[in-house]
Amino acid sequence: MLSKSPPVVWRSRIYRYRLIGCKCKNCGRVHYPPASACPYCSSRDLEEVELPRVGKVLSYSIVYAVDSDARERSPVILGLIDLGVTRIIAEITDANPEDIKIGSQLEAVFRRIGEDGETGVIIYGLKFRPVI
Ligand SMILES: [Zn+2]
Repeated sequence: MLSKSPPVVWRSRIYRYRLIGCKCKNCGRVHYPPASACPYCSSRDLEEVELPRVGKVLSYSIVYAVDSDARERSPVILGLIDLGVTRIIAEITDANPEDIKIGSQLEAVFRRIGEDGETGVIIYGLKFRPVI
């Protein structure tokens, strides 16, 4: 179950609703999600960059064993998505598993990702859907 208080959700909104990664000023590589140090060279000299919202499927998994928050939309499709500047793992939505192929084009969209059990706050985040 997600357990995020409204202030935590509010503070993290920029990262949930925009696709923000970090570019390392030392090695030039881009990573997502943002972290305080570059995962490639450990430099802390980073800048935030907005990532492309369209990418291609490099690989994907179909997950049938999901927790109670996601059971209503099982199976869940998780994609490894090439955005050009970096690769990210995200849920693929608005698609049946048979619609997804390696190389399929995807675009980022906002979707409900869960609900806080205590407060009832609905939490939205980024997923990817096929480009039609
Ligand atoms: Zn680096």
